[in-house]
Amino acid sequence: MQLTAATLLKTKFGYDHFRRGQKTAIDKVLAGENSLALMPTGGGKSLCYQIPALLLPGITLVISPLISLMKDQVDALHENDIPATFINSTLDYAEINEHLRLAASGEVKLLYLAPERLDSSSFLAELGQLNISLIAVDEAHCISQWGHDFRPSYLNLTTSLAQLPSQPPIIALTATATIQVADDICRRLEIPTENVIRTGFARDNLAFQVIKNQDRDRFLLDYLKLNHDQSGIIYASTRKEVQRLVHLLQQRKIKATQYHGGLSEQERRRNQEDFLYDRVQVMVATNAFGMGIDKSNVRFVIHAQVPGSLEAYYQEAGRAGRDGLPSEAILIFRAQDTQIQHFFIDQSEMDDEHKQKEYRKLQEMAQYANTQTCLQQFILRYFGDEPGEPCGRCSNCLDKREEQDITVDTQKVLSCVIRMHERFGKAVIAQVLTGANTLRVRQQHFQELSTYGLLKRQSQKKVIGLIDFLTAAGFLRVSGGKFPLVQVTAAGEQVLRGKQQVLRKTAVKAQQSLPEDD
Ligand code: ADP
Ligand code: ZN
Repeated sequence: MQLTAATLLKTKFGYDHFRRGQKTAIDKVLAGENSLALMPTGGGKSLCYQIPALLLPGITLVISPLISLMKDQVDALHENDIPATFINSTLDYAEINEHLRLAASGEVKLLYLAPERLDSSSFLAELGQLNISLIAVDEAHCISQWGHDFRPSYLNLTTSLAQLPSQPPIIALTATATIQVADDICRRLEIPTENVIRTGFARDNLAFQVIKNQDRDRFLLDYLKLNHDQSGIIYASTRKEVQRLVHLLQQRKIKATQYHGGLSEQERRRNQEDFLYDRVQVMVATNAFGMGIDKSNVRFVIHAQVPGSLEAYYQEAGRAGRDGLPSEAILIFRAQDTQIQHFFIDQSEMDDEHKQKEYRKLQEMAQYANTQTCLQQFILRYFGDEPGEPCGRCSNCLDKREEQDITVDTQKVLSCVIRMHERFGKAVIAQVLTGANTLRVRQQHFQELSTYGLLKRQSQKKVIGLIDFLTAAGFLRVSGGKFPLVQVTAAGEQVLRGKQQVLRKTAVKAQQSLPEDD
């Protein structure tokens, strides 16, 4: 029998059909071309380089930041009788040499490497001796400074690879890349745009939910009581909050453990294993947990606090349901939690341009929490995917509250924004609309505006909620990073001209005043 990709799929991996995108990716590799595979978590990215690795004469280098996973991946290949090995910081000098020897002698077809390895010129020289047929760059979003998980050693990747005597084809793979990040990967690895394979990032087994205006602890305890037989992850933004939550759960006899940068390596490993092997039900963690965790039966991922970007959110939430079974991705949103992320950006060592970008990503994350349209569509649009039909599973698709016509209130907000020359943030706008007598208002003589006090029966909080809703709905936009200014969009102008109606779902039926800020 001739050895082809299709026969290998059957004989080595035991599958009858390729998943979407796999065949195209494999064909590009076999044609010797550079390519980028954008596929969702669990989409089957590994086969895109493992099958070519078996068909090509030389060795395939797999560059991956997931050090903790490498051994498992190699073990899994061994189970399928595929010779593979790895080199990373968990090995000692003798082991590294032994694994290199295996690679050099042609005894293995795949060599997994941590990107840091390539920073060493002597190691590069060793690699240069190998007959390399293919280079797979896994988690390729780490290469982009605009990605949420940038790794400096990934940045050097291109220069390092250029030092190799031969220039084998490269396949880059990721499950989280915006259009900008994908462009960046292509530019750095010289991947022609026609070789970008996009199967879409949609995860049809995930039900997204946004929980607002609810007590966080109450929600978590109720949820865990209801789902006591399910395994899941709860993410929080700070170590302190992780510690508080894990304590809270343990007090209520919920089997929970924790993971964050403040624990010793030993504790982290033990807690991680307790979770992986189902000795505990819940992992409470900061974003330090998860990269390289391959637990298939995670039924829920709850973000107790909002993360810094939709990319980070989608990657973390995407750890639910890797086995394809229905799972929940829940965001508990409180506007004040965005301040923590704001603080992280502020304190970081990024340059100014980069910070502005991060602030904008955070704003988009908040819009996800404030939209009333399908959450899955919102995510897909963010990643530049075809949004398709509303998912029918998310908390917005299932929101059965009645829609209210809020066109008149919207016009009041929009005209106020214009009267203020689109140069202020939502807090000041809310002060003006509610007729507040603050220093800021007096300094700017806003009492003289015709829109001053137009919504004076409302609280400032509600008006801010309305502005957030109108931003998420696309009638307003925010510009600028750290101190975002609110501006009217083209769709907003249509509303001002009376050409478009604005509807909003609210808890209470016929109601004169503004709806709750949900
Ligand atoms: P990713 O890296 O994209 O998250 P993996 O490569 O780990 O996904 O694949 C996810 C799961 O899907 C694995 O268990 C893998 O064996 C399985 N899989 C991959 N390709 C196929 C296929 N063509 N048919 C059936 N199952 C597949
Ligand atoms: Zn939906």
